[in-house]
Amino acid sequence: MLREVSAAQGSPATEQIPALEAAGRVLAEEITADRDYPPFPRSARDGFAVRAADVPGELTVIGEVRAGEVFRGSVSPGGAVEIMTGAPLPDGADAVVMVEHTEHIGNVVRVSRSLKSGENFNGRGIEAKQGSAVLSAGRRLGFAEIALLAMVGRECVTVYRRPRVAILPTGDEIVEAGHATEPFQIRNSNAWSMAVQVARAGGDPQILSIARDNYESTRGLIEQGLTHDLLLLSGGVSAGKYDIVERVLGDMGAQFFFDRVLVQPGQPLVFGNAKGKLFFGLPGNPASTMVTFEVFGRAAVELLGGAAEAPLPLLQARLTKDLRQKPGLTRFLPAQVSADGSTVTPEPWQGSGDVNSLARANAFLVTEPDRENWASGEMIRVLLK
Ligand code: AMP
Ligand code: MG
Repeated sequence: MLREVSAAQGSPATEQIPALEAAGRVLAEEITADRDYPPFPRSARDGFAVRAADVPGELTVIGEVRAGEVFRGSVSPGGAVEIMTGAPLPDGADAVVMVEHTEHIGNVVRVSRSLKSGENFNGRGIEAKQGSAVLSAGRRLGFAEIALLAMVGRECVTVYRRPRVAILPTGDEIVEAGHATEPFQIRNSNAWSMAVQVARAGGDPQILSIARDNYESTRGLIEQGLTHDLLLLSGGVSAGKYDIVERVLGDMGAQFFFDRVLVQPGQPLVFGNAKGKLFFGLPGNPASTMVTFEVFGRAAVELLGGAAEAPLPLLQARLTKDLRQKPGLTRFLPAQVSADGSTVTPEPWQGSGDVNSLARANAFLVTEPDRENWASGEMIRVLLK
């Protein structure tokens, strides 16, 4: 799947946007340091700038330097300059002694400890050298990356355009969320979960009308969906008599890369290419739709959006209960990870239709296909929700 998406990705179009609006977007250029960082030897403490060889001992305070100033003189043997966090280290000094380790009386400072040269300040350029790359194209921008853009003076930044992702729900029983329901009808929750997941992966979700389980309706809406960068269908891909999505796509000349995965929930997942566009047929059960998007669709949207990598956020935690599963499938079971991240507890759930259980969960517990039993206390993989 990753190989096919990377091959189809090409080079997405780019746009310039304000850096402050770029959270979640993918960088399309390399960002370099406009000067050394820090641009001057910067004190990391409030205290006294000294020559390390002079301490412990009594020193003469020859002045003060605060953040936003520079000390014009220089520190000679036996001298010290009172210094604040963020201020430039005066010439001649090679260490900062913390104010907590001094006694300051008049113009004399008594230092009780010894210091190593270089202590308590950051030398010029040790965080980044002028002209060096601090961010490369393909990087997803979060708060720290955006802080870095501000730091190097970039108010605007070039990012990849978001891929437009068509979301196509299917099913005769499906009605829009705002509508009154007959007892046998089901509200369209998949379009909303998929829209949120697509947006979180950096895509621009476009929700289409609900395709009915007949050939004409499904074909017309699939054709509309294939005018986008990626098409996500939900439902209509299992073995039922009215699951016609694959037949319609087949008639349109689609190439299927796979139409089943050994994953639960989510076995009937379909992935292919039709009319030059990639599509996923996600199984319609809400938990299956959400899980297969997280495990497969999300990476596809991230890569189509120019991201260099799309790793699954997998961790490990200790199981709080014995667990038994039939082998053969990799399972993604709704679970609760404790607040400190150390333990994981399976969340009660009634199977692939149980949206309530997924909403309560904060993670999925991931079981390997070649095992049947896990004992309480064992480490197990966890996919964060
Ligand atoms: P299907 O894959 O079409 O056989 O659907 C499997 C199950 O998922 C059925 O119970 C459907 O009612 C339900 N389902 C399908 N599409 C949606 C949707 N858009 N929103 C909520 N549930 C759905
Ligand atoms: Mg259906």
